[in-house]
Amino acid sequence: MNKNRCVNMIARLFNAPLEEAEAAVGVGTVGSSEAIMLAGLAFKRRWQNKMRAEGKPCDKPNIVTGANVQVCWEKFARYFEVELKEVKLSEGYYVMDPEKAVEMVDENTICVAAILGSTLNGEFEDVKLLNDLLVEKNKETGWDTPIHVDAASGGFIAPFIYPELEWDFRLPLVKSINVSGHKYGLVYAGIGWVIWRTKEDLPEELIFHINYLGADQPTFTLNFSKGSSQIIAQYYQLIRLGFEGYRNIMENCNENMIVLKEGLEKTGRFNIISKDIGVPLVAFSLKDNTQHNEFEISDSLRRFGWIVPAYTMPPNAQHVTVLRVVIREDFSRTLAERLVNDIEKVMHELDALTARVTSKILITEEKKENDVNVTVVKKTELETQREITDAWKKFVKARKTQGVC
Ligand SMILES: *Cc1c(COP(=O)(O)O)cnc(C)c1O
Repeated sequence: MNKNRCVNMIARLFNAPLEEAEAAVGVGTVGSSEAIMLAGLAFKRRWQNKMRAEGKPCDKPNIVTGANVQVCWEKFARYFEVELKEVKLSEGYYVMDPEKAVEMVDENTICVAAILGSTLNGEFEDVKLLNDLLVEKNKETGWDTPIHVDAASGGFIAPFIYPELEWDFRLPLVKSINVSGHKYGLVYAGIGWVIWRTKEDLPEELIFHINYLGADQPTFTLNFSKGSSQIIAQYYQLIRLGFEGYRNIMENCNENMIVLKEGLEKTGRFNIISKDIGVPLVAFSLKDNTQHNEFEISDSLRRFGWIVPAYTMPPNAQHVTVLRVVIREDFSRTLAERLVNDIEKVMHELDALTARVTSKILITEEKKENDVNVTVVKKTELETQREITDAWKKFVKARKTQGVC
């Protein structure tokens, strides 16, 4: 079956400890979200079985992650009643700190979830350090807290361009890994994968065996029927491109990421928040956001046909707003250069606009001051700033309704 072939190829890509002809353990899913639900369920069940065997309560499972986790982890936690213990971020450090994570681990921790390629800035978390710290903690406490790696984006990046980086099954505590086929797996939306280290890491009681389709079919997915087109597409991409093909594409994405990053740096107006080693994306924020903010840039870029999201970071870095551009296979160097150009145009427009709006406000104020009946209270800088922003918003709104988008 193509699905099993894909599982075998991906498991070997992630260095699963398999013999030459041994079949890997894993399933194809709708995406990483479903993959994460399944991996989480397997951890929960393993932990429950262990606690029960030791005669201990097993009604308060928790999972330790960074506050930068993708929303599907929160979904897993709520739907399957597992407490999510999040390591807070801080300004300048936007991924899970392994030391803090290991500190939060207790006897009820079903796993620590690390992310290879944070959604927010593409950064790879230090899974190796996490593994080493957790090995120590497990030794001290007698627990055996495992690690899951959410490699939704990074799983098809790191093996090809950072083969030396140890983040996968080479680390003994990594028991399962998910990856999205529809991100850097280069397939249309609707495919993800979860791979377990060994058979022992996926409790047998979660697998259903059905035979009414002609043969024994083990199934472990949240829904039963699913189109096979995505799996065929994944299989096609894997064998058509091969290791070399994927590596060339990922290298190319990375080079275009550098072009974009350097172009943005050259404007002198942005802080780059993504890393050179990570998912090929550029996350950046304004050095000076007193005149305009990242949301305004995002808004203005739409007129040039770019959809560049702006968002605030999770706690405790929620005061930081970033813009993010993910470099896909079809994002060429020319497009990277054009985007830098368009961002520069937008910045000039915003600057000119602020200058106009500011002078208008000053004129109105002067008029007020000349009017003896009006008591003028000197405005604080913040109030002035608010007025500028309000006036600016009105200006943009007015233009939007007339403009051709
Ligand atoms: C995209 C993403 C997910 C969710 O993946 P889907 O395939 O869209 O369900 C989970 N985790 C991370 C880190 C992601 O980037």
